[in-house]
Amino acid sequence: FAFSFSAYAETYVVGTSAGFPPFEYVEDGEIVGFDMDLITEIGKRQGFEVEFRDISFDSLPPALTTGSIDIIAAAMTITEERKELFNFSDPYYSANQSVLVHEDSEVGLPVLFGDNDIGVQTGTTGDLWVQDHLVEPGILTGNVRNYDSFVLVIRDLSNRNIDGVVLDKPVGETYSQGNPVKVVAEIITGEEYGMAVAKGNDELLEKINAGLEEVIADGTMDELIEKYFE
Ligand code: GLN
Repeated sequence: FAFSFSAYAETYVVGTSAGFPPFEYVEDGEIVGFDMDLITEIGKRQGFEVEFRDISFDSLPPALTTGSIDIIAAAMTITEERKELFNFSDPYYSANQSVLVHEDSEVGLPVLFGDNDIGVQTGTTGDLWVQDHLVEPGILTGNVRNYDSFVLVIRDLSNRNIDGVVLDKPVGETYSQGNPVKVVAEIITGEEYGMAVAKGNDELLEKINAGLEEVIADGTMDELIEKYFE
């Protein structure tokens, strides 16, 4: 016999890196976005509340494993390497990588070849892709510039301090609205985003997956996609 009633809801600390619109960004001093709405809606259905913490993307894994945050909601791609560190929810969004240049640039995809400077956010799948596919084979001989936040990457591309950027396509497209940058190529990486919890925290993982299923079934997911992507 299962009995569940609680007078107050548990609050979980959700870590994110809020320079990744429309998934997470800062608006009027608040951390908002698709991922924030999604985990809030999941919490409503599963009886927990959330509090957001904005830290650099590469600080999220250690923050989760040391317990200073309970959940990562950061458009984080489910990868084998990360699965060794923590557990992922069921996937909730699919994305590829993209290549961005300044809007006045005539160079397309070839920006990734030769002596160009490419900006990435440290620890992202884009960062790893550039290392594995461009730097190691010697295709890219310029500098890979690592940043803590894509906000700064896009600023440097807008100012022409770097020649190109590799980042998730939905975010590249969002940044190209309102900044002097454009998407010139898509890199088909077939990534899927998941929320992450510490290994062993199966109870929370089950709540997130159950809530995610409800949010998909009741049409809230479609509403969120419409709100942030259309
Ligand atoms: N999806 C990419 C990754 O997981 C980028 C995520 C991000 O920068 N927030 O590495």
